[in-house]
Formats: sequence, structure tokens, C-alpha cells
Amino acid sequence: LPDPAPLVARIRTIPDWPKPGVLFRDITPLLLDPQAFRLLVDTFVIRYMHEKIDRVAGIDARGFIIGSVVAHQLNAGFIPIRKAGKLPFTTLRERYTLEYGEAEVEIHTDAIEPGARALLIDDLIATGGTMVAAANLLTRLGANVVETAAIIDLPALGGSARLREAGFSVFTLCS
Ligand code: IMP
Repeated sequence: LPDPAPLVARIRTIPDWPKPGVLFRDITPLLLDPQAFRLLVDTFVIRYMHEKIDRVAGIDARGFIIGSVVAHQLNAGFIPIRKAGKLPFTTLRERYTLEYGEAEVEIHTDAIEPGARALLIDDLIATGGTMVAAANLLTRLGANVVETAAIIDLPALGGSARLREAGFSVFTLCS
């Protein structure tokens, strides 16, 4: 796989956002740079091009940006996994805990067929709550979650370890 250093160089850290004490990792400089954006997409495409991926599922909202272009390049369909209340058709829902409170993600019940191969993509894994909930939605529909993938892992928050404990494979470009 290509060296991720040019991508890492374009991840900006914003202190105290969205609240004091948080270091927010901002991928918008990476998306703005055509060569970096291409390298990002190519890295995922190279990793999964021989994996017979049927669908790429992207998590609301930054997972949509990356997941849809990767789906296009892999000749796969795209599945939006959205925050609750946004999807119009019948859905499955998973609730998960945030640092303060709870959140829910949803998937359309016709998004994938049992046994189909899904790649799940988001920008960042922190506690892993979002990615675990999204992977559970795919599993509940009978899909085979080939891997859960993100640009950034924050290993101190334990999310990637939690995903692996739940039986999911995890790939991230940097920590
Ligand atoms: P988790 O559920 O705690 O793993 O949080 C991951 C989710 O929150 C992902 O959907 C991310 O987009 C978002 N998120 C959390 N922290 C950051 C950050 O520092 N930068 C960008 N997204 C973040």
C-alpha cells in the first residue's frame, strides 16, 4: 500500500472543538488537496480491489465522502448508514452510547442481501461506538462485513480493540 505520510500531513488538529479539552482531527485539508484525496481513495481501492466487495457502507456524514468514491472505483453499490430519522424507507436501528448520552444509526432493510460482502467506511474510530453499531446493522441484515475501515484510529480510546473483540476486522491508515 502507498505511504500514508502525505495524508497524515494533511490532517489538521483543532484544539478545544467541539468542546474544551477535545482535540478534533479535521480531514478537510486532505479532501481539498487533489493528490492527497486521490491517494486516500487509491489506498482503500488497492486494499479491497480483489475482495469482491458487493457494497460499501459509509457512515453519516464523512463516511459518505470517502465511501461513495471507493464504492464507485470498486464497482460496488453504496449504502448510507445514517443518524436516526433521516432514512425514508423501512429501517433497522442500533443505539449506542456517546461520552454524554446516546445516539442511533439506521440502515434501510433492503440495503444488502444475506451473504453479500460489505466494506464499512468512516473517517475516524474513537470509542468505536459508531462503527460497532454500523457493523451490527450490516450483520443483522445477514451481510458479511469484510472489514471496518477508517482514515484515523485513536487507539487510546479503545475503539479498534473493541471492534476486534466483537469479531470485526479493522484497517486504518494512521493512528
Ligand atoms: P466513536 O463512535 O467514539 O468511535 O466516534 C467516531 C465518530 O465520531 C465518527 O463518526 C467520527 O466521524 C466522529 N468523530 C469523533 N472524533 C472525531 C474527530 O476528532 N475528528 C473527526 N470525527 C470525529
